[in-house]
Amino acid sequence: MLQITNATIHTPERTIERGSVTVDGDRIVAVGAVAGTAVPAGATHIDAAGLTLVPGFIDLQLNGAFGHDFTADPSTMWEVATGLPRYGVTAFLPTIITSPLEQVAAGMRVVTGGRPKDFRGAAPLGLHAEGPFLNPQKKGAHNQQYLRPPALDTVAGWSPESGVRLVTMAPELPGALEVIGTLASRGVVVSTGHSMATYDEARAGFDAGATYGTHLFNAMPNFGHREPGLPGALLTDDRMTVGFIADGVHTHRSVIDLVWRILGPRRMSLVSDAMAALGMPPGLHRLGEYDVIVDATSCRLTDGGALAGSILEPDQALRNLVEITGCALGDALATLTTTPARLLGLERERGQIAPGFRADLVLLSPDLKVQTTIAAGDIVFSAA
Ligand code: ZN
Repeated sequence: MLQITNATIHTPERTIERGSVTVDGDRIVAVGAVAGTAVPAGATHIDAAGLTLVPGFIDLQLNGAFGHDFTADPSTMWEVATGLPRYGVTAFLPTIITSPLEQVAAGMRVVTGGRPKDFRGAAPLGLHAEGPFLNPQKKGAHNQQYLRPPALDTVAGWSPESGVRLVTMAPELPGALEVIGTLASRGVVVSTGHSMATYDEARAGFDAGATYGTHLFNAMPNFGHREPGLPGALLTDDRMTVGFIADGVHTHRSVIDLVWRILGPRRMSLVSDAMAALGMPPGLHRLGEYDVIVDATSCRLTDGGALAGSILEPDQALRNLVEITGCALGDALATLTTTPARLLGLERERGQIAPGFRADLVLLSPDLKVQTTIAAGDIVFSAA
């Protein structure tokens, strides 16, 4: 049993001053004000005076970290997962970019194989397959050789149960709408991205069942006032949750503010899109089969200079959003907690501090730096 007392709790939908949270096993069993809360005998006690307690972060797009690239070697997923709590991440979608289909199958086996013995860290919730049904004109850092036209055969075994949670694809490709509908009917979240879709083509994809947009503005047509394209469709359709990389590199800082005003906490989903260089020194790293040169702020293909993932720390994304928009912390937190949980259909289990929810918790300092991370009731990171 674990008890945290004296924290300012952002559930994130409400704020409790000097609150306490009681954890039993991997679940939250009680949340309340400190008055009258006794620490049960034998419980681990954290006095969180001066700290803020928030739900663990859920990152829907993470290609790797700490020198490991999931596309090159999906088996590194669990090792990377042990390090992610330093950024407040307690659940994530390991992202496999366009590659031979065997790599996606290998990733599915790693996810469904379950956690290694004595594993402690962030939970992989299933793959984000970014590709292979992408528009070659917006391939970004994906290898054109492995792009394919949408086909039901290709996704025959893809479902949340078999380890695929989210698929990014271009809705304008021939056959795309049927694949979107089929995946969505199985409970796979379909995202529109790496696409040349016009506004109308994007809306057709949403009508077919897509509910997400991958890294807004990146790898899609520019917004135009006469042809708003995929970005305009994503921004104006309340059905859509929109993935956004708030690093100030993938979009200008002022665009973060602009997009926040449109999407707000229920529709903006902050992702890191982090690659193998996250948590590593600048230099040469891998994304899939490509070499990527990483400096202090960005990751670019050595061949051509296209952006190739990020080194954005998920907790830095939160700080950027708060700093740039001036929004309330609870609203900013939603983009990494309740909003991704709802998109994945896990809103009754993850993303909130409430009785019955998984005990995925983060203690933040007043400057929003991660102090302690608890995943499934275990203390998995302590800054010290
Ligand atoms: Zn991408």
